[in-house]
Amino acid sequence: MNRLSDIGTIKELLGKHGFTFSKSLGQNFLVNPSVCPRMAELSGAGEGVGVIEIGPGIGVLTNELCKIAEKVVAVELDKRLLPVLDETLSEYENVKIINADVMELDLNGLIAEEFNGMDVVVCANLPYYITSPIIMKLLEDKLPLKAITVMVQKEAAQRICAEVGSRMSGAVTVSVNYYAKPKMLFSVSAGSFMPSPKVDSAVIRLDVLSEPPVKTDEKKFFAVVKAAFSQRRKVISNSLSSGLPISKEKTLEVLKAANVPSNARAEKLSLEDFANIANNL
Ligand code: SAM
Repeated sequence: MNRLSDIGTIKELLGKHGFTFSKSLGQNFLVNPSVCPRMAELSGAGEGVGVIEIGPGIGVLTNELCKIAEKVVAVELDKRLLPVLDETLSEYENVKIINADVMELDLNGLIAEEFNGMDVVVCANLPYYITSPIIMKLLEDKLPLKAITVMVQKEAAQRICAEVGSRMSGAVTVSVNYYAKPKMLFSVSAGSFMPSPKVDSAVIRLDVLSEPPVKTDEKKFFAVVKAAFSQRRKVISNSLSSGLPISKEKTLEVLKAANVPSNARAEKLSLEDFANIANNL
C-alpha cells in the first residue's frame, strides 16, 4: 500500500482497526516518507536476498523491503497488528508475517526454513526498550547474516559505532565489534515518528564478520568485557578484580602477562587487549 507514511492514511487505517499505540512495546511508527526507501536500499536487500524484519508495525518499511527483496519474513509481537498488515501488504506475495516475540524465536531454524540458501540480511526499526538485547541475540546466535541494518536511539547508535578504545566506547561497542563492523548511516529526527519519541534516532548497519577479529575464549572474553565496564570510572585492575571476581594479586599478574597497564581505564583498551586478558586468565 502506498502513502503508508502519510499521517492521514495512518490515522484512518488505525481508526478502522481500532488500534491504539502501546508504549511498552515501543510503538513509534515512521511517518517520514524518505526514511524507509533509504533504509531498505542501504540494508543490502535486493534480488536473491531474503530479509528478516523485526517489528513491522503497520508495514511501512515492510512495503519498501517487499518491493526490492526476494522474500521478507517479518516478526511482530503485537497480534492486534496482524489484520492491519494483512491489509497493507495485500499486494505482495513475497512476505510472511510471524506473530512472535523475536527474543524467543529460533532464528537459525527460521532462516533454514524460510530462505533456502539465499543471502540473508536484517532490516528493522527496533523497539527501543530492547534494542541491545535484540542486536546481541542476532550476533550471539551466530546467524548466517550478511548485515544488520537497524534504527535505534541516536545515543545507542553513537555508542555502538564508537571507535573501540575511544571515550565513547562501552561494553556494547566492544561486544558488537567482536562480531561485526558497525557503521553510522544517517540520523532521523524525533518528529519522523508517530507518536514522537523524546529523542532522535539513527540508522546503523553492522556488516557481520565471517570470523572474530581476535582469537580468544568467548566466555572469558565477554566476562572480562562485562567486568571491565561494570565500573568504567575505576582503573582496570580494580574493576576486573571486583567484577570477575579474582584476587587483586592474580589480577595484576594477568594484566602484566597481557601487557595491559594496571591503571588503564576500560574505554582505552583495544579488542586485542581484552582478548589478551581473557587468554591469560
Ligand atoms: N517498523 C514500524 C515502523 O517503522 O513504523 C514499527 C517500528 S516500532 C519502533 C517497533 C515494533 O516492534 C512495533 O510494531 C512493536 O509492536 C514491535 N515489537 C515490540 N517488541 C517486539 C518483540 N519482542 N518481538 C517482535 N516485535 C516486537
